Amino acid sequence: MTFDVIVLGLGAMGSATASVLARRGLRVLGLDRHDRGHTLGSSHGHTRIIRTAYYEHPDYVPLCRAAFGLWHDLEQRRGQHLLTACPCLSVGTPDSELIRGVRSAAETHGLSLELLDPGQLRNRYPQFRLGDDMTGAVEQASGFLYVDDCVRALQDDAARHGAELRFHEPALEWKSQPGGIAVKTAWENLSAGALVVTAGPWARPILADMNLPLTVMRQTPLWFRPHRAADFRRDRFPIFLVDLPGGAFYGIPMLDSRGIKAALHYAAPELENADEVSREVTLEDEQPVRAFLREYLPNAAGPCTDGSTCLYTLTPDRHFVVDRHPGHERVAIAAGFSGHGFKFAPVIGEALADLVTTGRTEWPIGLFSARRFQTI
Ligand SMILES: Cc1cc2nc3c(=O)[nH]c(=O)nc-3n(C[C@H](O)[C@H](O)[C@H](O)COP(=O)(O)OP(=O)(O)OC[C@H]3O[C@@H](n4cnc5c(N)ncnc54)[C@H](O)[C@@H]3O)c2cc1C
Repeated sequence: MTFDVIVLGLGAMGSATASVLARRGLRVLGLDRHDRGHTLGSSHGHTRIIRTAYYEHPDYVPLCRAAFGLWHDLEQRRGQHLLTACPCLSVGTPDSELIRGVRSAAETHGLSLELLDPGQLRNRYPQFRLGDDMTGAVEQASGFLYVDDCVRALQDDAARHGAELRFHEPALEWKSQPGGIAVKTAWENLSAGALVVTAGPWARPILADMNLPLTVMRQTPLWFRPHRAADFRRDRFPIFLVDLPGGAFYGIPMLDSRGIKAALHYAAPELENADEVSREVTLEDEQPVRAFLREYLPNAAGPCTDGSTCLYTLTPDRHFVVDRHPGHERVAIAAGFSGHGFKFAPVIGEALADLVTTGRTEWPIGLFSARRFQTI
């Protein structure tokens, strides 16, 4: 065998895994069907939020804490700034999923979380125009990651430790064989001791035998130039998540001339095929975000200066799948990051490296078991 492990898919999760495996001294081959730095998957678009009081489930909190450290380790190894600390404001009615969730995560894990009543919220963040029913929760253990730089840094780190990374080389199929795994790519038949599948929105076809209930959802983060740029600087304006009856919105302060980043979370059709997705950003994409800004952040609702398309890969319960392949002991898989996985990439890389080399991991990833879907 030329390689100990093949990593199929070099987005955030595959690049992180290749970096961990290479640093552990394994012979690693990473494959991606698209160019380096492509914008067709899920790991591009300038920034990603990292936060700790995890409304989605308290079990994510230890992983968030570890992720901060691992991102900072990568910064040191690469000599590069990747993560900027910035407060994160959650806004919703006291009984909204968001406010209940951040409070529950904070209480379970003893996190520091500042609760703001409607008056305090208005005083602290006058950029928002919110009703008397809206409360806030601010955490400081949060920030944003420069997503494109992070993925590149993970790939550089993997390569520096000896991994071979090939782009524009789609894996067409794979199978177990005595002593390992065979992978057929568009150009070559390869073999390795083990395989990690991190194919993002294309996980479903390449893991067809698992019949995972994954869907793909098109998302369009947009940038709006505020009327008064200084009010939306990161020293005055937080990362925000706003849970409204009509949908959830999030955003990031103004970091460059494009303005603040703002987007509607979820709320688009769930599709089966990632290649069907329209890549064009239209006025229809802008409309709900602009309506949100006009009502709740009126001074941010200036011209829309930029936008991109990006894909979520969803599981029915919106929790990840990170596990060994139930039918192939030398295969580990990670998929279905449901629009909130990026921050965890270095942790997922560690867990996948454990799973594929030793069959088990100490990382607390029970929530992500593939067996919960009982598909195989
Ligand atoms: C708009 C948007 C905003 C988000 N915001 C946040 C956020 O604020 N915080 C957060 O934590 N997360 C966020 N996420 C989620 C996060 O970005 C994703 O969970 C994460 O990037 C998923 O990474 P991945 O490696 O699984 O997938 P991808 O990055 O899509 O990587 C999969 C790779 O596999 C390759 N591939 C697929 N099939 C094959 C094949 N057969 N052969 C070879 N290569 C193959 C693809 O080309 C691709 O490069 C957001 C996502 C989007 C879309």
